[in-house]
Amino acid sequence: MSIAENLEEVLNELPEGVRLVAISKFHTNEAIKEAYHAGQRVFGESKVQEMTAKYESLPKDIEWHFIGHLQTNKIKYIVPYVSLIHGIDSYKLLVEVNKQAAKAGRIVNCLLQLHIAEEETKFGFSFDECREILTAGKWRELHNIQLCGLMGMATNTDDNEQIEKEFCSLSNFFKEVKDMWFADIEAFHELSMGMSHDYRQAIAAGSTLIRVGSKIFGNRVY
Ligand SMILES: *Cc1c(COP(=O)(O)O)cnc(C)c1O
Repeated sequence: MSIAENLEEVLNELPEGVRLVAISKFHTNEAIKEAYHAGQRVFGESKVQEMTAKYESLPKDIEWHFIGHLQTNKIKYIVPYVSLIHGIDSYKLLVEVNKQAAKAGRIVNCLLQLHIAEEETKFGFSFDECREILTAGKWRELHNIQLCGLMGMATNTDDNEQIEKEFCSLSNFFKEVKDMWFADIEAFHELSMGMSHDYRQAIAAGSTLIRVGSKIFGNRVY
């Protein structure tokens, strides 16, 4: 199957209100152009240098989402053009993004990443850490970032029940956070969850943004 056909297949499954971020990390500009010509405009990358090089050489109406672990010293390279940063996993990082966004004269959209998987290796806040930060309220003074929602990754497992449980826990937490701190902030409406192997469960649990890579582009080339 071609990239365009794979893309079509995923898009056909999306209910209204759910958007696809095509994860193009480690794939070539040619592969991205194929998806672009099939109509896709939202792409996600996990490395700053790679995303910036692609941004510079590809059409300017692409929305670039950063989905990786962001190091503070590299924020400045993506802040001028990034549409959404999915992986804010510390308050310090949020403060740094705000600082760089102010320098660039932008308001940068961000998602808070929650740790919902069993694996130790995945980044993100615990629910309690997230509650603490939001309760402390200092984020309200960060005028160059816009908190748009939450992001999470389920455990990489074949156990469907576990995946469902993790997505539901994040979805419930999203509702709590929305009610407690963002009831009057319309921009806070995104729940980024679901990858190639689990996006159907993520959609069932209330995802608004799925991040699908290998199902569209095939296995990564390196
Ligand atoms: C790589 C990646 C994806 C896409 O994974 P696939 O299994 O290729 O769909 C989604 N989210 C994050 C955070 C990733 O790093």
